[in-house]
Amino acid sequence: MQREWKASYQHKQTAGQKAATEKKQTAKPEPPVSQQSKLCPAFGRCGGCTLLNLSYEEQLANKQKRVTELLKPVGKLDPIIGMKGSPWHYRNKVHWAFGTDRKGKIIAGTYEESTHRIVPINSCKLENETANRILCTIRDLMPSFHLTAYNENTGRGFLRHVLIRTAHQTGQVMVVLVVATKVFPGKNNFIRVLREKHPEITTIVLNYNDKFTSMVLGEQNTVLWGKGYIEDELCGKRFRISPHSFYQINSVQTEVLYGTAIELAGLTGKERVIDAYCGVGTIGIIAADKAGAVIGVELNKAAVRDAIGNAKANEVKNISFVCGDAGEYMEELAAASERADVVLMDPPRTGSSEAFIRSLSVMKPKRIVYVSCEPETLARDLEGLKKIGYRAKKIVPVDMFPGTEATEVVCLLGRAGN
Ligand code: SAH
Repeated sequence: MQREWKASYQHKQTAGQKAATEKKQTAKPEPPVSQQSKLCPAFGRCGGCTLLNLSYEEQLANKQKRVTELLKPVGKLDPIIGMKGSPWHYRNKVHWAFGTDRKGKIIAGTYEESTHRIVPINSCKLENETANRILCTIRDLMPSFHLTAYNENTGRGFLRHVLIRTAHQTGQVMVVLVVATKVFPGKNNFIRVLREKHPEITTIVLNYNDKFTSMVLGEQNTVLWGKGYIEDELCGKRFRISPHSFYQINSVQTEVLYGTAIELAGLTGKERVIDAYCGVGTIGIIAADKAGAVIGVELNKAAVRDAIGNAKANEVKNISFVCGDAGEYMEELAAASERADVVLMDPPRTGSSEAFIRSLSVMKPKRIVYVSCEPETLARDLEGLKKIGYRAKKIVPVDMFPGTEATEVVCLLGRAGN
């Protein structure tokens, strides 16, 4: 029996892509096989970029149509904001799995859709090109260092995955070697040679993961070289990115997304703002300059720690963070008759909760800005918000994931009649 594997790991973008691929049968015309393989030899097998066969304009039209259909009952859409420059190689977080082929040669690449079969690649049209080059170097260096690839069936071998995170603005590069055994023969030499070949690398981390799991990263990180994290800038603020941090994967479009969300929030410098589902505090920290006070709420403890550190590093003093379920926290605020002028919400793919929406009916913020990575749950939540008196005033799709069917949407809601 084939095991059900998920190649994605806890981050909403990858999951969004997966959801998108499930709908591919309905969306696109199939070009001839020869044409597909010219674009990418792995097209159709790896399941990463299901829209690769369409021009970028066609991709955007395709997404606009899908989101319009889903959100028709709640409002009219603005035209989708696509990438201004090249829509390729935007992924700042790149992960390849390592294994061997039938002849025992080391291979590395993405997983075939819904399996753990590796599709060997040398580059990917969605992924950062520096990251791709480093991954190929690691793969090619392994035999001369007698480093083996992990075998999921036997549980033996050394290197399981390599995760590379690149910072768009600062150019910093983090390499995370995910290993299944702590014995790393020739470690110092390997690091020296890798750094010589790629002086752009700014930190190398060893992550230990010996579990039978679909999660890429294990819990333990050991810094092998450098600071153990990278820093990037978004909308003029600096953010620290550790191996486990959530960080939007398309930096160029993230600035467009956050800029749109904050503009729609209509802040004048006085408002009390809630940044719900705040991750490492990015939206709230960027919005804080224009607000009276911001409270970020986030379930993940490590993200909240990062958010507090990010606020300090940017000297943002009018923001605080709460670790907990956003719906429960909002209910507590509502029960204590606390108010909020603007609620920014950016929930995961599953959308928001009934408790969250119930609390909004009590707190009655002037404006709600809903940032969604899954238009289907957005449509559901907008219906719920309609029942408590909120209407969609503006709906702006933003293309965060060219080549895939996933679409991000920013929606401004206000009280009906206002
Ligand atoms: N706004 C951030 C993060 C968005 S991703 C950014 O742009 O980077 C969604 C976030 O919601 C994740 O950080 C996830 O950990 C968090 N989350 C998921 N369920 C939650 C819940 N019930 N309450 C609060 N936060 C939650």
